[in-house]
Amino acid sequence: MLELDTIFGWLVPRPYKPNRGSAKSPWPCCDKADEKSARVCHVCRGATCNQCHGFFNGHWICGPCRDHIKAELERERAEFSHFPLALAGGLIAACVSATLWCWLAIKSGMVVGFAAILVGYLSGLGAHLMSGKRRGAPVQWAAVPCAALGIVLGHYAISFYFYKVQLAYIDRAAAEAVTFADPAVVGYFCDHYGFLTPFDAITLSVAMGAALILPMQRTAAVR
Ligand SMILES: [Zn+2]
Ligand SMILES: [Zn+2]
Repeated sequence: MLELDTIFGWLVPRPYKPNRGSAKSPWPCCDKADEKSARVCHVCRGATCNQCHGFFNGHWICGPCRDHIKAELERERAEFSHFPLALAGGLIAACVSATLWCWLAIKSGMVVGFAAILVGYLSGLGAHLMSGKRRGAPVQWAAVPCAALGIVLGHYAISFYFYKVQLAYIDRAAAEAVTFADPAVVGYFCDHYGFLTPFDAITLSVAMGAALILPMQRTAAVR
């Protein structure tokens, strides 16, 4: 299931938001529960005291919440061993979103340049989800090249389509014979995307940023 939190997660800096559901620590909070120092846990609103509390970004939290948060942050930390799965997820997402982008171009008759942002974003999301919702450098390094590949692939597929359409006005038979890797298509693609307009540069930066930031390690000071 996609949470809204994941979808908007790329709006950095990404803080970790604790969630302990409905489990509320009861009183007495621990074996040596100290009534004088009793306080409400910042996360579950249950009881905690001087003897057992922890800290979450400077707020008092109960022992179970501290253990839960630490375990959750530890669980989502990506290791290098998660890189292949993240790469596979990023590749699948990049290909699917490039196809969607091409479909959009065919339907609208326009390139819709800012759709590249969606390719970047979905590549990051694909890498994150496929790696088992991990975050951190190994997932980020998988997501970024996938996003770049998806954007080039999307632009290329769109070039292929428009080249065919334009050629069909002149020579229908030749247009039908054009293959995906035709040197003429490569030339057409290079003519149109060989240089970056300021708009392209901005779109590309945002797209790469989305792929890089979405699977970023979340931060919290817990002890
Ligand atoms: Zn708590
Ligand atoms: Zn206690």
